[in-house]
Amino acid sequence: MKPISDINTPDMSAFWMPFTANQQFKAAPRILKSAQGMYYHSEDGRKILDGTAGLWCCNAGHGRREIAEAVSQQISHLDFAPTFQMGHPLPFELANQLVEIAPKGFGHVFYTNSGSEAVDTALKIALAWQRARGQGTRTRLIGRERGYHGVGFGGISVGGIPGNRKWFGSLLGGVDHLPHTLNIAKNAFTKGLPAEDLTLADELEKIVFLHDASNIAAVIVEPIAGSTGVIMPPQGYLKRLREICTKHGILLIFDEVITGFGRLGSPFAAQEFDVIPDMITCAKGLTNGAIPMGAVLVQDHIYDDMMAAGKGAIELFHGYTYSGHPVAAAAGLATLEIYRNENLLTRAADLAGYWEEAAHSLKGCKHVKDVRNYGLVAGIELESLPDAPGKRAYEVFVRCFEKGALIRVTGDIIALSPPLIIERSEIDDLFTLLQDALQAQD
Ligand code: PLP
Repeated sequence: MKPISDINTPDMSAFWMPFTANQQFKAAPRILKSAQGMYYHSEDGRKILDGTAGLWCCNAGHGRREIAEAVSQQISHLDFAPTFQMGHPLPFELANQLVEIAPKGFGHVFYTNSGSEAVDTALKIALAWQRARGQGTRTRLIGRERGYHGVGFGGISVGGIPGNRKWFGSLLGGVDHLPHTLNIAKNAFTKGLPAEDLTLADELEKIVFLHDASNIAAVIVEPIAGSTGVIMPPQGYLKRLREICTKHGILLIFDEVITGFGRLGSPFAAQEFDVIPDMITCAKGLTNGAIPMGAVLVQDHIYDDMMAAGKGAIELFHGYTYSGHPVAAAAGLATLEIYRNENLLTRAADLAGYWEEAAHSLKGCKHVKDVRNYGLVAGIELESLPDAPGKRAYEVFVRCFEKGALIRVTGDIIALSPPLIIERSEIDDLFTLLQDALQAQD
């Protein structure tokens, strides 16, 4: 094989690209060839400031030598071994380190390869746990409108994105959705979380009343919804969900695939908002995006009940060939070491004020109708063109890429989530580029 750096993009037709307008992209591709620190390097030789940590993944920035070395060592040492009725050291060590940074009481880790699998795993654990404790009628699952929980059948069923659901048949039965929490009319340009409003969380009581608690297994929400455009929970909302779930014996799952690993200023959103769910799903930042890996962090009470019900046999009939893959675990361990050494799990809290001011400086730019922010996340929503929703933000995205910044868009919402190593001067550069691109709109 040639040196990797010598391989340029060949004919592109064979790769069916995910969540991509393939024909449009292949007619005018944007190719990232290498990356270091805060920057990608495009195939046409330009430096692109990473405003999205790849896809909410690379919290420690790109090209981290420590991760590369750990992965390389592990492949030579033990490339693969099963974790079904067998074991090897690293996933145990990684689990021990993950429970150290998780909220108190989260003593157990189930590994997956992605966020989607982590979500489906958490939903299955919820159903199995309810059954194990003699509550097998609790089979309903509750998600939320505009929630994104990956693309497995479980995830799209509890997820609330019509486009991700409508093509794929009847999905899981027995799913309800809470209303989403975006209210631009009331909260436009709020800094941080909108003012306390418990009415949307209280909608859960209506669902419980309709179905009876004895039929409901779990509620799953993203503490801050990322993929559908950075949607904040009002103050008090998550706490109220927790109270209602506890009152009715319903498990609460936080999908922290994007909020995990320091994005909001604490290791997990659960700690940041001081609301403790029963399970946390995570992925992405777990290995800094370098090797696919996801996980479900599980409270002791769930694990203990499952162990008791298992009576020494297999307690959970679930797992992936690559659950706890040794190479992914090596990447995870090296990543956590970087996070610890560089205080990255709390660095977003130090930068949040600066980031907030920079984000809100976009108020008044062409077509900007809302700016939302928390930690090192920002959402900038544009007025849509009546006949072409999404067109404005897409054009801003392309212009930013041409001028040297990677942003992410969903519909007419721009989402920013840079690596947590970003410096103030790079925050300035990112928002200057974005402001120029916004002002260049028609
Ligand atoms: N859950 C949330 C909240 C996500 O943001 C994502 C991906 O963006 C997923 C689940 C799915 O993760 P993956 O793409 O690794 O399957």
